[in-house]
Amino acid sequence: MLRATGIEKSFGGRKVLKGIDLDAAKGEVISILGGSGSGKSTFLRCLNLLEMPDVGEISIAGTPAPLVRDRHGALRVSDARALGSMRARTAMVFQGFNLWSHMRVIDNVIAAPVHVHGMAREEAVERAHALLERVGMGGFAQHWPRQLSGGQQQRVAIARALATDPELMLFDEPTSALDPERVREVLDLMRSLAAEGRTMLVVTHEMAFARDVSTRVVHVREGRIESMGPPAQMFGPDASPAFRAFLSA
Ligand code: ATP
Ligand code: MG
Repeated sequence: MLRATGIEKSFGGRKVLKGIDLDAAKGEVISILGGSGSGKSTFLRCLNLLEMPDVGEISIAGTPAPLVRDRHGALRVSDARALGSMRARTAMVFQGFNLWSHMRVIDNVIAAPVHVHGMAREEAVERAHALLERVGMGGFAQHWPRQLSGGQQQRVAIARALATDPELMLFDEPTSALDPERVREVLDLMRSLAAEGRTMLVVTHEMAFARDVSTRVVHVREGRIESMGPPAQMFGPDASPAFRAFLSA
C-alpha cells in the first residue's frame, strides 16, 4: 500500500531525515514513536508531499509519486494532476484538528468529496451524515467548529478524512492536544478504523495504542528508523536498548 525508500530531508543544511525506508501492507497499522525533533512529522509530511523530500521514492497503492529531478538535482513534482490524485488517496489528521472554522461541520465533511472528487452535493451530504453518525457526531452537522470540544472536533476531522475513502490514513499526534478524558473517544474511533482494515500510519505518544492496536511499531531516532517490529517484540525484553531508553524517559 505504501512504499517509501531512502527518504532524506534537510532544513537549512541540517539533515532531519537521513534515509528512511518504510513499507506498509494494506491493513497495517504502524505506530511511529520517537523523541521530539526526531523527524516524525517531517516524515509523514513527506509521504503526501506536503514537504518535498530531497531524496527518495514514494509509492502509494502501487502508483509512484510524480517526482523528477530538476537540473540542479532537486526533486520536484512532475505532474500536478498525478499529485492531486495521490493526495486524494491519502488523508491526514493533525494534532490541531484543522477544521475550517468558517464552515459548519457538514460543510467541512463534504468539501473534499464535492470540490476535489466532483461528487454530487446530495450524495456527499448523505455520506457525510452517515460518517458523522459513525464517529458519534450525528447531531452536530449544523454546528460550527468553535461550538465543539476538542475531542468532538477531532472526530469531525476524522469523518472529514474518511469522506474521500482514503487508501492510506496519516495521523500526526491526533490526541496530543486533547484533555485526558477526550483522548479515549478519539482512540476508540481509531481502533475501530484499524479493525475495519484501514491502512494507517500513526505518530503517537499513546503507548497503549501502539502496543494493542498496531501491527508494527517504528522507533524514529535522529532522522533514522532506529528499530521496528511487531509490538510484542518492541515492548518485550529483546527490544533495542535505544527504544527501551526512549520508553523509560
Ligand atoms: P515532535 O515530537 O516534537 O512533534 P517530530 O519528531 O515530529 O517532533 P519534526 O517536526 O519532524 O519532529 O522536526 C524534525 C526537525 O526538523 C526539528 O529539529 C525541527 O525543528 C526541524 N523542522 C521541521 N520542520 C521544519 C521547517 N519547516 N523548517 C525548518 N526546520 C524544520
Ligand atoms: Mg511532530
